[in-house]
Amino acid sequence: MQVIEILRLKGHEVVSLPSDTSLADAAKLLAHKCIGAVVVSEGQGGITGILSERDLVRALGAEGAAALALPVSRFMTRTVVTCQERDTVEGLMEMMTRGHFRHVPVLDEMGHLCGLVSIGDVVKAHIAETAREASNLRQYISAG
Ligand code: AMP
Repeated sequence: MQVIEILRLKGHEVVSLPSDTSLADAAKLLAHKCIGAVVVSEGQGGITGILSERDLVRALGAEGAAALALPVSRFMTRTVVTCQERDTVEGLMEMMTRGHFRHVPVLDEMGHLCGLVSIGDVVKAHIAETAREASNLRQYISAG
């Protein structure tokens, strides 16, 4: 299964914010959208960084409540690992496991941001594929 199939089901929306957004506003956005990470972007589809709930916890641990008034640029990850629509879900699982992150922005053939896949999406796709394979095998065995 390819990443593009996950996006076909979940859609192409990518929640993003500019890097001068306060951490408090970023936290509000994550809570409001029920998501675990936002892409940091100054617009035009570029990626400046990524901020996940883990970065928020780290910021609060390091700076206390004062962190909430500071800009996202202070706490985001700047080197963002991305994937392509045609990458496989298995490849993505490996990428997430090796990199210790749970969110990967997706780029289209033109290099434009076209979606974001979370570990939850990957696990859901993997379970669906495994169930499909098991059903096909059962059919094959009972037909024989
Ligand atoms: P997560 O597991 O996605 O909550 O993120 C754990 C850490 O990895 C945080 O510091 C994130 O900023 C960072 N991170 C999340 N996604 C990516 C990514 N695709 N590329 C690089 N770093 C990431």
